[in-house]
Amino acid sequence: VVILGIETSCDETSAAVLFNGTDLKSHVISSQVKTHQKYGGVVPEIASREHCLHLGEVVGQALREAGIGFSDLSAIAVTYGPGLVGSLLVGVAGAKAMAYAAGIPLIAVNHLEGHIYANFIERQEIVFPMMALLVSGGHTNLILFRGHLDYEVLGGTRDDAAGEALDKIARALGFGYPGGPLIEKAALQGDPCAYELPRAMLEPGSLDFSFSGMKSAALNILNKAKMKKEPVDVNHLAASFQQAAIDVLVRKSIRALDRYEVRTFALAGGVAANSLLRKSMGSELSARNIPLIFPSPVFCTDNGAMIAMAGYFHFLAGDYANWKLNAVPGLNL
Ligand code: ATP
Ligand code: MG
Ligand code: FE
Repeated sequence: VVILGIETSCDETSAAVLFNGTDLKSHVISSQVKTHQKYGGVVPEIASREHCLHLGEVVGQALREAGIGFSDLSAIAVTYGPGLVGSLLVGVAGAKAMAYAAGIPLIAVNHLEGHIYANFIERQEIVFPMMALLVSGGHTNLILFRGHLDYEVLGGTRDDAAGEALDKIARALGFGYPGGPLIEKAALQGDPCAYELPRAMLEPGSLDFSFSGMKSAALNILNKAKMKKEPVDVNHLAASFQQAAIDVLVRKSIRALDRYEVRTFALAGGVAANSLLRKSMGSELSARNIPLIFPSPVFCTDNGAMIAMAGYFHFLAGDYANWKLNAVPGLNL
């Protein structure tokens, strides 16, 4: 089985070729980060234009590096949501055209499933049940997997996503975009206890998340200091904010683990690249004898390989999309 995976949901144009769900033959990512950086965030209209310009060459390069042509493909898997509608449409329309011309099935992949399936790229054997903590730019979810593509969402954020909150604080601190990695770097020079920030745990037993309280508290610290013309140690604030966000992620995960017995715990999404999160989850899980898995950083953020991987399992299930497939910007798990 040879799957071409295509991802264009945000600001990365990416394509990958995956053999038999195990062998990643090629993986090309054309990032627009530099284009959007000067605006401090992704500009949707520019993003979709960039996808139009690059999709053809990215797919071409992925096929070349894999040493195959369209006629060797079993199917084309594409992200159809969630994401920016204009960006998604470029991938969906492109994938449809390629699959139709090649006479092969089209597979619609939920980007969030893709993030979780990134965990399967570098390891074959996953023992279910598996709990996943998806922490990306737009989503924060705890999900219970009983088997492949058989899952239940246990909780989600009621306001900001963890990555979104990190990005907003980074911006307020003057770090730029994307903020998560810059917060992580600054935090290395800061004291995580320097500033006291609230950690919202919500009602007893709730597996939902809320990051807007700690975000407002951090912004208030900045604003008050500005008014009083007092300096703020940005490294201390970055470290304190990162610690507060990770404390909530870890404590909520433990709350879920107390309720459901699982044999694997997976981190997924861009924030899963964070080393403090990996370390903190790792020590909690090793105390419970549950193996922690996470993708390499390149597979944590948006990429076509994860779409090919999720697409492979949909292909095995015979779950093909039809030619009327549309982008669904607000798609959920
Ligand atoms: P979604 O997948 O929810 O639609 P997205 O595709 O924009 O959103 P991802 O690409 O999964 O999100 O992740 C991007 C997010 O990950 C950004 O918020 C970024 O700041 C964050 N991030 C990336 N690296 C790190 C890191 N090392 N530490 C913390 N956060 C990080
Ligand atoms: Mg991105
Ligand atoms: Fe993403």
